[in-house]
Amino acid sequence: MSSDANCQEKELVRNQMALRTQEFMEGQTMLRNQGFTEDQTAVCRVCPHHCNIPVGAFGRCRARKNAGGKVICTNYGKITSMALDPIEKKPLAYFLPGSMILSVGSYGCNLSCPFCQNYEISMAGESDFRILQEVSPQKLCSLAMREASRGNVGVAYTYNEALTGYEYVRDSARLVHEAGMVNVLVTNGMAELPVLEELLPFIDAMNIDLKGFRPDVYRKLGGALGTVKAFITRASQNCHVELTSLIVPGLNDDPADMERQAEWIAQIDPRMPLHLTRYFPRYRMHEKPTELSLLTRLKKVAQKSLERVLLGNV
Ligand code: SF4
Repeated sequence: MSSDANCQEKELVRNQMALRTQEFMEGQTMLRNQGFTEDQTAVCRVCPHHCNIPVGAFGRCRARKNAGGKVICTNYGKITSMALDPIEKKPLAYFLPGSMILSVGSYGCNLSCPFCQNYEISMAGESDFRILQEVSPQKLCSLAMREASRGNVGVAYTYNEALTGYEYVRDSARLVHEAGMVNVLVTNGMAELPVLEELLPFIDAMNIDLKGFRPDVYRKLGGALGTVKAFITRASQNCHVELTSLIVPGLNDDPADMERQAEWIAQIDPRMPLHLTRYFPRYRMHEKPTELSLLTRLKKVAQKSLERVLLGNV
């Protein structure tokens, strides 16, 4: 990456982080001005941000709120996107291939990726939508069963960061299992292990993002590499796991990092599938799409340690 492009990318990330921090701080200041005091705050422990949220305010993800001293998810059952998708689109290449899966998403995310492909819903809060479809876990399960005649095998929790409303995933997934269908979670893996433990009994397969293999990459995106590694390690003990790395030029395209990443995955399971997907300009990032030759090079590097490396978005 040229130094100009590097500066531009750093500037974009800085602006993005500053904007979200400013929004969060403004909310806190407003509440303090209204007379709320420190002791009325509540700490959310769903992800390592551990947001300290004043009464009535939202955490960084814009999906969890302090309601009367208790943190709740405001996106519970509020559906922004629903589609019957091929399971390969999640992407899952080695779990019930050829199946369809009812895929649902809400709003909110705990990362701030400037290249987010779904930013319209992931960066949004409830106030950004005029109307939100409410779908209870019972209704979602009925819809999934109804779609069985079209090849549906269950429900995928995807599109935004599903773990910002993990309670909805848990309640829905339990019913979906009772109905004899499967649950798929598509996540950035940026959540604390107790949240994962609550979900694991009901989740059959996951696609987890691994957005880079250097702590500074995760810091730029507002995340923590250590948390994601712990999440992947634990999840893979209980269910089928495939990983996705969106390759963004200048961010996570260093072959030496890919080599270390693949070696780390291989010591968990050398057959764990790794999807290397192609970045396209989106949201606040306008760099050119990832060169196919770069993806192919990184694939070869990863294949030194891993048996199943796939290219996506090509
Ligand atoms: S899930 Fe949301 S509110 Fe909770 S700690 Fe993470 S960013 Fe903050």
